Amino acid sequence: MLKGFGARLKAFFSVHSSDENFYEELEDLLIEGDLGAKLAMQISDDIKKLSKSEKPKTQRELQLLVKKILAGKVRAYKPEIPQDGPTVFLILGVNGVGKTTSIAKLASMYKGQGHKVLLAAADTFRAAAIDQLEIHSDRVGCRIVMQSNGSDPGSVVFDAITSAKAKGEDLILVDTAGRMHNKENLLRELSKIDKVIKAKGIDENHYKKFLVIDSTTGQNGISQADLFNQAVKIDALVLTKYDSLAKGGALVQIGEKFDIPIAYVGTGESYADMHAFDENEFLDTLVG
Ligand code: GDP
Repeated sequence: MLKGFGARLKAFFSVHSSDENFYEELEDLLIEGDLGAKLAMQISDDIKKLSKSEKPKTQRELQLLVKKILAGKVRAYKPEIPQDGPTVFLILGVNGVGKTTSIAKLASMYKGQGHKVLLAAADTFRAAAIDQLEIHSDRVGCRIVMQSNGSDPGSVVFDAITSAKAKGEDLILVDTAGRMHNKENLLRELSKIDKVIKAKGIDENHYKKFLVIDSTTGQNGISQADLFNQAVKIDALVLTKYDSLAKGGALVQIGEKFDIPIAYVGTGESYADMHAFDENEFLDTLVG
């Protein structure tokens, strides 16, 4: 099951002790594993320092030191849904990362927890996105608010909030356009939706922004987090294709660089394949 960086890191610890070349080779491995040169150097320095005080004697002790250092760099996020709803989850991400599937999984998960979920098809740019979301709403068994292809996303969100208030739905999952944006386009599009949400009286306790990232994309995920986080302040990540965690290091880099925690991980294609992120489990997979 374990692939890529995690497997290489484990193999590294099985043959290395903290000799001369250890830190240099560890640094190379961390860079290869998508942690980036700056963070790799910092982690390697931290380990060196901590090794002096904690004096690890075995490979296992050394491995635990690495884990301790990485632990400070990834955080889990548990969103709260106040009882006096509705709460809006704005779901962001570029096309192909698994955004639609994640919305369906979240809808199914929250419905299972007793919430009344409404989907809002505010990716009005692609007709297929609206159709896809409608199919998911049927399968999950929740309502959907949609308009015709090309309509104003802000207007869809306006209708969705009005409708949820009337029908007593406490969670609105808003799909948004996922074409590759530049910052200006993204800002323009999202600020319209943002204004509507606030104008409808949804305060920040009832409004969370999630960025969906494909765990296997490494550096792309980092630039996506950068772009979206500049356009709107991202509250947390949803990581898809976590089942293959090939570029786990990039996730540490996102956590460190933008201080964005991780809420959920998708581990497959069915609705049940969505779980709350567990940082200990992540570090066990990554480091061992
Ligand atoms: P969107 O364009 O971002 O809305 O992407 P989709 O939701 O249509 O997903 C793109 C592809 O990734 C589909 O084939 C999904 O079944 C697949 N996918 C989505 N999430 C996961 C996941 O967590 N694990 C795996 N293995 N596949 C996923």
